[in-house]
Amino acid sequence: MPSIMWFRRDLRLLDNPALLTALSTASASAGGNGRVVPLFIVDPVLWGAAGPVRQGYLSAALAALDTALGGNLLIRHGNPIDCIPEVVAATGASSVHIAADYGPYGSQRDVEVELALGTVPLVRTGSPYAVAPGRVIKDDGTAYRVYTPYFRGWLRHGWPNPAEDVPADANWWQGMQCHGIPPAPDLGTLVLPEAGERAAWARWEQFRASGLSTYGELRNRPDLAGTSALGHHLKWGEIHPRSLLAELSDADEVFRKELCWREFYADVLAQRPDTARVSLDPRFDHEMRWSDNADDVFEAWATGNTGYPFVDAGMRQLRREGWVHNRVRMVVASFLIKDLHIPWQRGAGEFMYWLRDGDLASNSHGWQWTAGCGTDAAPFYRVFNPVLQGLKFDPAGDYVRRYLPELAQLPGKLAHEPWLCPDGYAGGYPERIVDHHVERAVALANYSAIKKPTA
Ligand SMILES: Cc1cc2nc3c(=O)[nH]c(=O)nc-3n(C[C@H](O)[C@H](O)[C@H](O)COP(=O)(O)OP(=O)(O)OC[C@H]3O[C@@H](n4cnc5c(N)ncnc54)[C@H](O)[C@@H]3O)c2cc1C
Repeated sequence: MPSIMWFRRDLRLLDNPALLTALSTASASAGGNGRVVPLFIVDPVLWGAAGPVRQGYLSAALAALDTALGGNLLIRHGNPIDCIPEVVAATGASSVHIAADYGPYGSQRDVEVELALGTVPLVRTGSPYAVAPGRVIKDDGTAYRVYTPYFRGWLRHGWPNPAEDVPADANWWQGMQCHGIPPAPDLGTLVLPEAGERAAWARWEQFRASGLSTYGELRNRPDLAGTSALGHHLKWGEIHPRSLLAELSDADEVFRKELCWREFYADVLAQRPDTARVSLDPRFDHEMRWSDNADDVFEAWATGNTGYPFVDAGMRQLRREGWVHNRVRMVVASFLIKDLHIPWQRGAGEFMYWLRDGDLASNSHGWQWTAGCGTDAAPFYRVFNPVLQGLKFDPAGDYVRRYLPELAQLPGKLAHEPWLCPDGYAGGYPERIVDHHVERAVALANYSAIKKPTA
C-alpha cells in the first residue's frame, strides 16, 4: 500500500525526514512498491488568511514543488479533515506522513485529522525547526520566556544532521484528480522573489559566499543588502534551518542567533497559543490607555505618510516588496505603538497581510517585543526615535530616498529631516502628523499609569 506525504510548511525534497519516512514506510509495506502520494491541500481557512502576497508566493512555491516531483504533486482543495480521509480511501494508503505543526490552528487541525483517520496513522516526523517547540526547557521543567537562556539551552540541546537525500528513483503515486494550483492574485507592481527549493538553495549559497562573513556588521543597515532574505523560504520550508545550521562555523554566531529567535518565538507560541493575539503581559490589553481616534493616523502609518521618512520608507517598502528590513520593522512598530498609541495587534495584522515571510509566531512576538509586553521585553520606556534611528542605520539617506521619491531632491542624510531644508517639502512629502517628543512623553505617562511593582 502507498503512503501519503502531506506537505504543508515543508515544500522541499532535500533534508525532509517526514518524506523519507513516507518513502521507507511505503517500501516496507506489502505491495507498496515504495509509492508515495505527494499531497498538498489548499485549506480555504489558511488560504484566505494568507493575504494576496503570500497567496502569490505559495502558488509559485507549489508550482516549483510540482516540477521537482516530476509533475506529480496532488493538490486538493478543501478542509483537510475531509480531504485527507478521501485521499486515503482513493489511494488505499496505509499511513499519512507530516512534519509536526506547532501553530495554534495547525496543531488542532492535525488532532482532528488524526481522529478522522481512525486506524490509519498520522505519523509526525520532524518539524519546521531545528529543535521542536517544547524541547528546550528550564531545569524546573517550565518553558523559557527570555531569549538568551533559551539560546544557551537550545545550543546545549543541539539538533540532528540534515537528513539524507530522497532517492533519485522515488516512486510517486499518480491517478487521483488534481484540483490544481490556485491562481496567483494580481499583485500589481509588487514583484516576488523566485520561489522553490532550488531558489532557496541558490539564495543561501550566494549569501554564504558573499554575505555571511559581514552579516554581524551589516545586518542592521537597511540601505545595504546585508541580510540573507531567506525568511520566505524558511516560512514555507523550502530550506530547513538545520541545513543552514550545518553549514555555519564558529564565526557565524550572529546568524545562528537570529535563526534561534525564530525557534524561540515558535516555542513561546506553542506554550501560549493565545499570544498570537493576546499580550503576554495582560496589562497591555486591559489597562493601557490607547488612542480613541486612531483610524486616520493608522492609515497614514500604513500607507507611509506619517512625515517621518524612516517610518514611511519602511511602510512603502512593505507594500512595494512584501518585505521590510528587521531594523525598520522595529522602528515602524515602535512608532505605531508608542507615537500613535495604537495597540500592537493592529499593526501585526497589517504586517501579516503584506509580508511575504509573514509568520504568526515571529510576527506576533516581534510586535510584542517592540511593544514591551512580550518576551524578553525591551522595556516599554525604550522608545525608538525614528529620526535618530534613520540617521544611524541609513547614514547617507539612500534607503529613504529609494522608497520616498518626494525626497529625491534632498542630498545625503538631509533626507531624514526635510523640516531642516528650505525645499524639504517641494516634492510633496507630508508634514509630520505628530511630534515624536510629545508622543513619547504621552506613551511613558500611559505606561506609568499601568506600571505596578512586581511581586
Ligand atoms: C515587528 C516585527 C515583525 C516581524 N515579523 C516577522 C514575520 O512575520 N516573519 C518572520 O520570519 N520574521 C519576522 N520578524 C523578524 C525579522 O524581521 C525577519 O525574520 C527578517 O527581517 C527577515 O529577513 P531576512 O530573511 O533577511 O533575515 P536575516 O537577518 O537574514 O535572518 C535569517 C533568518 O533568521 C530568522 N530571524 C531573524 N531575525 C529574527 C527575529 N527577530 N525574529 C524571528 N526570526 C528571526 C528569520 O527566519 C530570518 O529569515 C519580525 C520582526 C519584527 C520586529
